[in-house]
Amino acid sequence: MSNILELKNIGYSYHNLHGETRALEDISFGVAEGEFVAVVGPSGCGKSTLLSIIAGLLTPERGTILVNNPDGSIRHPGIGYMLQRDHLFEWRTVYRNVTLGLEIQKKLTPERLETIERLLREYGLEKFRDKRPSELSGGMKQRAALIRTLALDPRLLLLDEPFSALDYQTRLTVSADICRLIRETGKTMIIITHDLAEAISLADRIIVLSGRPARVKREIPVKLTLKDDSLLAARNAPEFQDYFNSLWEDLTYEK
Ligand code: ADP
Ligand code: MG
Repeated sequence: MSNILELKNIGYSYHNLHGETRALEDISFGVAEGEFVAVVGPSGCGKSTLLSIIAGLLTPERGTILVNNPDGSIRHPGIGYMLQRDHLFEWRTVYRNVTLGLEIQKKLTPERLETIERLLREYGLEKFRDKRPSELSGGMKQRAALIRTLALDPRLLLLDEPFSALDYQTRLTVSADICRLIRETGKTMIIITHDLAEAISLADRIIVLSGRPARVKREIPVKLTLKDDSLLAARNAPEFQDYFNSLWEDLTYEK
């Protein structure tokens, strides 16, 4: 099977003093190696919960997650998690931020450090290695966060609304930029976004979730005829508006 990940009938509820909050109900889908999947759904429906379950941070109450590794084992693949904020530490330089993951995991090997050097060069951050995060633009901070994530060589990248702290203009270029960089690595990505245009322009497939408890309402394979492969051009593809309208309807007319 070429799927890196297979979710089967996942269910999850939060329990606290006020009772039960059902977050996920009977969620099933697979993700192929190298695929970019976008997850969209109403605010509060359970998207972050779903990502936490995939990351192994929460254990599903019902259902199973199967993970396929190249060696046939079913333990968790290396997972990289990028959140809404870049979570760079101001008291560390850019260099000491991007090496932080390796430092924590005690994996500061010469090969890994060489990878970091290469990424710093490729991502145009070499000159900024001794700067503090506050001296970087929003786009550069996200690039630094990406280097820190990629340094651990994850097979699967999970991105939870990673660009939503950026203003609209910056967001367009940064999301296109980061996704191109991830594509080049051949890694698999699951990204949560509330920006439908972003989902259409960067994903191979969009999973639409219902309101809480989230169920898979629809899966939409995205095929755009593009003049070139830039994400900004994707927004001008003739099919773009049809995808947009159909997603809009899915999310506006609940149930
Ligand atoms: P989304 O990311 O789609 O906005 P979440 O997965 O963060 O939604 O949350 C889904 C639902 O679960 C929401 O109603 C939220 O209030 C609730 N929830 C999230 N985390 C907790 C928690 N730790 N304890 C109780 N309820 C929670
Ligand atoms: Mg969320």
